[in-house]
Amino acid sequence: MTDTEHGAARTAAAFHAVYGAEPTGTWAAPGRVNLIGEHTDYNDGFVMPLALPHTTIAAAAPRTDGVLRLHSAGAPGGPVTLRTDDLAPPARGADWAAYPAGVVWAMRAAGLPIGGADLHYSSTVPLGAGLSSSAALEVATALALDDLYGLGLPRAELARLAQRAENGYVGVPCGIMDQTAAACCTAGHALFLDTRDLTHRHVPFDLAAEGLRLLVVDTRVRHQLGDGAYAQRRAGCERGARALGVRALRDVPYAHLPAALDALASDPVVRDLVRHIVTENHRVERTVAHLDAGRPRAIGPLLTAGHASLRDDFKVSCPELDLAVDTANAAGALGARMTGGGFGGSALVLVEAAAADPVTDALHAAFAAAGHTPPRIFPAAPGPGAHRLGP
Ligand code: ADP
Ligand code: MG
Repeated sequence: MTDTEHGAARTAAAFHAVYGAEPTGTWAAPGRVNLIGEHTDYNDGFVMPLALPHTTIAAAAPRTDGVLRLHSAGAPGGPVTLRTDDLAPPARGADWAAYPAGVVWAMRAAGLPIGGADLHYSSTVPLGAGLSSSAALEVATALALDDLYGLGLPRAELARLAQRAENGYVGVPCGIMDQTAAACCTAGHALFLDTRDLTHRHVPFDLAAEGLRLLVVDTRVRHQLGDGAYAQRRAGCERGARALGVRALRDVPYAHLPAALDALASDPVVRDLVRHIVTENHRVERTVAHLDAGRPRAIGPLLTAGHASLRDDFKVSCPELDLAVDTANAAGALGARMTGGGFGGSALVLVEAAAADPVTDALHAAFAAAGHTPPRIFPAAPGPGAHRLGP
């Protein structure tokens, strides 16, 4: 049995222990890391996530009485019991069950014939580490319900419903990247997603075949200034787009960047935000070109340049992320960057396979020497998006 099959069997057995019956099936949805394209999603720009091997598994069975029961191995207490007819935002409290309940709400609000269900979850996606356990939870739920109720919705539509759950029910103003990654990724590929029109393309990124490794360095820190800083960056980008007379910063061509920066000289904060977004979109396009041309090593310097831009222009890095990137590069990595919103969370490191261990050792040593929390470091080969595991 593979790890995933073990996970499915364990989750089904746990479902039985909680609810006293067999589940109808088990479904998995992955966490993700964003290879490149950071803070571009709310500027109508480009992102490039890949699915982690870590997944959230939902075991589920339908109910005919309109009752929704939710239970997770990752949350204390017994099942949360709700009535589908009563679901309405805002979610009461910041309970974990708001994520899957929000999916049921979003599907029903879209007029889909979703009734009650019993669901049990287990997950290997670290929670709150910037690896999108929330989207994995939502998309596993959406796919399970889609299957239980025979809807056959397209993956992109499941992603939109999951995003609506998080925006409208949980109350988190996230973009569409995480849910699209969880729903639509394919193994051996990164997902090149245009967040303006939601078109996407699978770009080959077969690390094993290339003799490469991508390491995720979860710093396990989350600095508190996160939320307000996100809103500030977002408002600054909108101010920049208004000042430049474009709908979104996506519409500033890379070739026009010098003129745009001149035009924003009186507002250096906004000028620097604009510089990051415009150069970052360009880095995503160059990353795609390199990967399409079979030159994965060539993306290393783009990753490192992206980190410098997030640190110096967008100002969302932190000492732990900078240490991870600088240490990895000094120890022989091809490139490295923070990934996710910033102020903690995770960094990505691209290395030759033979350098994975020495770079990992160097990272542990540097974090210990600096007195930081020990990081969690693991390889991330691009895995599949959400899928049914079995009956
Ligand atoms: P991230 O998505 O980066 O992991 P978020 O703060 O968006 O961080 O989502 C984390 C929250 O999602 C957790 O605090 C918890 O409420 C919920 N969650 C995600 N996965 C699970 C799970 N398997 N079981 C219970 N709650 C989960
Ligand atoms: Mg999340």
